Amino acid sequence: MELKIIHLYPDVMNLYGDIGNIICIKKRLQWRGIDCSVKEIGLGEKADFSEADLIFIGSGREEEQKTLHADLLENKAGALRCAAEAGTSILAIGGGFELLGKYIELSDGSRLELAGVLDMHTVGGKSRHTGNYMFSTAFGKVVAFENHSGSTYLGEDLESLGKIEKGYGNNGEGEEGARWKNVFGSYGHGSLLPKNPALCDEIIRAALSRRYGETELAPLPDEAEKRAHSYMAERLEK
Ligand code: GLN
Repeated sequence: MELKIIHLYPDVMNLYGDIGNIICIKKRLQWRGIDCSVKEIGLGEKADFSEADLIFIGSGREEEQKTLHADLLENKAGALRCAAEAGTSILAIGGGFELLGKYIELSDGSRLELAGVLDMHTVGGKSRHTGNYMFSTAFGKVVAFENHSGSTYLGEDLESLGKIEKGYGNNGEGEEGARWKNVFGSYGHGSLLPKNPALCDEIIRAALSRRYGETELAPLPDEAEKRAHSYMAERLEK
């Protein structure tokens, strides 16, 4: 068994150590004896996701979104929509999550059309929402760090990834991230996955199950991961 990851825009979307998510996925696969390959696709390359099990996009500011916007529409958006529709897993963080939406209204008032994978849009704001935060999902409580000025609004039929328990999330109205088919979007940095092993395993399980049929993952001890998770959850619950 092998999980094939495509890391999209590692050259541009690389804020806040989001690459820790790929390290975490690789490690949890390695512990279970499952192979993993990572291919990078950057600016100017025509994307082909037909071989991918999981596409990862890290975060970036409005500046980075402006930098890659033309390339996204020309070389990646159509392939991203097809891949998501076909059930390929996508994990997108922060500005990378915003890229999956229909458009962003930048804080200078201009508007960028985006990939249109998810029925949502983002509005850039003047104030930042920064801090540790927590949301509840189908895979338990997730703790992470948010740092964004954009607020994201989901279309009526698009589900969020979780309900905010502490923090701002998509737009201050109680929802965090998005989940559609095997697409996972979140504002969670930290990196997101290392201290949220249940979420990491759900993303791995969904990606492997699509290629190999319903796949169960062997449990891992996760002692350090659970300690890191509960330390932050307890701090936020106070
Ligand atoms: N571009 C967004 C913002 O600055 C997202 C930043 C981020 O990736 N957290 O609001």
